[in-house]
Amino acid sequence: MDRNGADQHQFVWPDGYRAAVALTFDVDAEAVVLNVNEAYGRRPSVMTHQQYGPVTGVPRLLRILADRNVRATFLIPGFTAERHPAMVAAVQEAGHEIGHHGYLHEQLKGVAEPEERAFMERGLEALQRVAGVRPTGYRAPWRDTTERTLDLVAAYGFAYDGSLFDRDVPYRVATGSGPIVEICVSWALDDWEKYAFLPDPPMGSGVIERPSTVLQTWWEEIQAYEQFGGCCVLTMHPFLSGRPARALALAELIDRLLTRPAIWVTTLGEIAAHTARLEGPVERLSLPAPGRDTTPAAPVGAPRGGKT
Ligand SMILES: [Zn+2]
Repeated sequence: MDRNGADQHQFVWPDGYRAAVALTFDVDAEAVVLNVNEAYGRRPSVMTHQQYGPVTGVPRLLRILADRNVRATFLIPGFTAERHPAMVAAVQEAGHEIGHHGYLHEQLKGVAEPEERAFMERGLEALQRVAGVRPTGYRAPWRDTTERTLDLVAAYGFAYDGSLFDRDVPYRVATGSGPIVEICVSWALDDWEKYAFLPDPPMGSGVIERPSTVLQTWWEEIQAYEQFGGCCVLTMHPFLSGRPARALALAELIDRLLTRPAIWVTTLGEIAAHTARLEGPVERLSLPAPGRDTTPAAPVGAPRGGKT
């Protein structure tokens, strides 16, 4: 490390960039609540709270992105795409990337393989039918994966997953169907923890943060990612970050980003394609299993020991 803590094992970004920032929007909308209980579909206040995203938030966010000529990644559950096809078309026409985010934003915890495959397939079919898109990227709803999720992501032909948490830079990971790219996320970079408040079903931290505080927090994060040469993935939800003062804070954040020539502001798809082209080592995901012989985890940049 140098005196500021920058890593020696620098990830190589293209075109002289030192770090990357991806603006990503999970258009969870009604799906995230309906997956808790479909009875919420008969609750107009709850549904319109979620519907704010595709109806009001996305158009505002698209204008902010267009004014700054920035491309983003929109992760869209299949149900959201079917219910809001005009929103999907607007995202597409603006040239943004569309990724897979389940069908009804399904929680994968405890789900059997046939069910997990069905969620994957229904999401793919919906995006194909509504948008004619076969996405290259997947992000698990709730960022919660099973032991088989990465295998399925590869088996269904995705180039990358964006649901894990163990790195600041993208890496290639082995699966049962060949390597894919993993682009990690962070709860600190998610607007859910900053803004989500819903009394029923209870969701979010229960704290509604001031947008100027979120702006300052994320700007500190981005500056640190720039120093460490990392990949900063901001996750936002249009029903949260599309509201007026929050959208203006995001616009200000993008304006600041665009003053930093060393930061590559791009989509997850571009980051994944670059990472695949680098042909770095393909790593094996290491999970602990008390009482069983497992592959030890190794720090980034260190030779990997043990069985692989
Ligand atoms: Zn989501």
